[in-house]
Amino acid sequence: MSESMKAIRVERLGPPDVMELQDVPAPTPGPGEVRIEVEAVGINFADVLSVAGEYLTRTRVPYTPGMEFAGIVESLGEGVTGVQVGQRVAALGGSGALARYSVVNAAGLIPVPENLSGAQAAAFPVSYFTAYHGLKTLGRGVEGEWVLVQAAAGALGTASIQLAKAMGMHVIALASTEEKLALARDLGADVTILQDDPDRVQKVRDAAGGKGVPLILEVVGGKRFQESLDMAAPQGRIIVIGNASREQANLRPVELMKRNLTVTGLWLTSLMNDRAATMQAAQALAGLVGSGKVTPQVGPTYALADSARAFQDLLDRKTTGKVIIEPAR
Ligand code: NDP
Repeated sequence: MSESMKAIRVERLGPPDVMELQDVPAPTPGPGEVRIEVEAVGINFADVLSVAGEYLTRTRVPYTPGMEFAGIVESLGEGVTGVQVGQRVAALGGSGALARYSVVNAAGLIPVPENLSGAQAAAFPVSYFTAYHGLKTLGRGVEGEWVLVQAAAGALGTASIQLAKAMGMHVIALASTEEKLALARDLGADVTILQDDPDRVQKVRDAAGGKGVPLILEVVGGKRFQESLDMAAPQGRIIVIGNASREQANLRPVELMKRNLTVTGLWLTSLMNDRAATMQAAQALAGLVGSGKVTPQVGPTYALADSARAFQDLLDRKTTGKVIIEPAR
């Protein structure tokens, strides 16, 4: 009889409560693959969109969600070298992590600095690589420059504040509640403003010296995208990373022309194919995380059976840091 395990399954796309806890056959590693006992799964806004069928790539059902996780290598498929059974690793797969065991290609494993717990390791890859590319690779941020971080208490937001400060930048943080702004300040944000403050556009412009902000990490979209253009300094760079509002935005190219603005899209999945950029980010991040200068922010933690609630809390803006699900709990 084949071994079975608990896993989350999605048979039809929709809101988080379409996710069901089921008993399924445990996967076995094929050539070049490893089986990992999942300690912690990092839940991203992308997971919520994927279950809803609204992500950048098509979701095929049935499937087990969960793209980012950390765990202990439990067995090796044929031909795998350079990985030890018992080693803690992080991985970024397309799906399949919301389960007791997950099988991934050994080539895609991310070594975990020894000072990180399983939950911290699961909170690390997506948010920190994305923040690094937004601030540096595509954002070209430099020491002493101002950057605007939206949804500042979230997983990407907390990573962005920490990395920007480590790079010597000045941070303006926007978030929806005073508690979230307090967290942003604890992480080093220099100026914090409620995202529904009626004077937010002027306050952001003033905070950055009156001319607006040179670099904006834009994750909300919809009508807030227009506001980001209004908050930008002449020659400002707006890095479009997300669309948490799930609303359409309007862009009039002439407006970019008038103020010499640059709008750049960032999708981590496709940027990972740029080996040079990935290696550079990995090296910089390993130094910062390994030395403890930057610490992945673990948010609320849930059991596998409570996955739907975890996804709903993320969608309802109730969470800070990275939402974590622990399948072994
Ligand atoms: P977060 O932990 O940041 O949670 C989402 C946050 O978005 C909420 O807490 C909320 O913060 C904010 N938000 C603003 N408007 C809305 C809204 N209408 N509905 C829900 N939330 C809203 O999630 P992630 O760190 O996973 O992702 C943050 C953003 O970055 C998302 O848009 C995501 O898609 C994007 N992203 C993109 C990547 C890429 O490769 N392009 C990679 C990683 C993330 P508040 O209450 O303070 O407004």
